[in-house]
Amino acid sequence: MRETSVCVECGTFSLDRAGKIPDNYKLDGNIDFLRNRKVKICMKCGRVYGEQGEELTKAGKKIYFRDGKFMLVKEINFYYRKEKYGWLSNFWRCWQEVDGIWYPANEYYYQAEKARERDVYIWISNAPSPYLAMIAGRALRKNKELVDDWDSKKVEIMLKGIRAKFKDDKLREKLLKTGDAVLHEDSPTDKFWGKTGKDMLGKLLMQVRNEIREEELTKQKE
Ligand SMILES: [Zn+2]
Repeated sequence: MRETSVCVECGTFSLDRAGKIPDNYKLDGNIDFLRNRKVKICMKCGRVYGEQGEELTKAGKKIYFRDGKFMLVKEINFYYRKEKYGWLSNFWRCWQEVDGIWYPANEYYYQAEKARERDVYIWISNAPSPYLAMIAGRALRKNKELVDDWDSKKVEIMLKGIRAKFKDDKLREKLLKTGDAVLHEDSPTDKFWGKTGKDMLGKLLMQVRNEIREEELTKQKE
């Protein structure tokens, strides 16, 4: 195997030098095979690799070093609405309210926010389907119909939309149930939101999952 220092998770040159896990180090029973092995750890995301940078997995789960521990992490891929985790998709139909306006799915809100003109905004947020909302939003031209600096705003807008989507009790519960699984939008083409690129949609969903978990903990304490 070719020696590499690129983390396949984050796509960056972020792998540390290979080092041996100390003998006295406590490992979860299910990853005891790491004992006496040299491993490389990604400095950015914590993904654990073998000495030559080969991917280490067990039972379809990936290994990460997080919070001072080696752990097996489940991964969830989502894309099509009808699949098991389709509700993580931006196209999933579930009414959400943002700043006093109701949208049938987060995609409507996200795409409408691209519009500079009010009538275009309203058209997109009432498009016949989330797919058509996306097509319309993507068709807006820079310096014309598209709001200024969209690229610097889009992550914040998506995050706001995801927070609104997961105000829904059922979705909230489902999201919490994904536990510590790593979430990826399995888009074959989207290099920003999808897993073939920056994987941003999954990252924001995990961020919102953390926020919800914190909220629930605070509620329990009260
Ligand atoms: Zn990484």
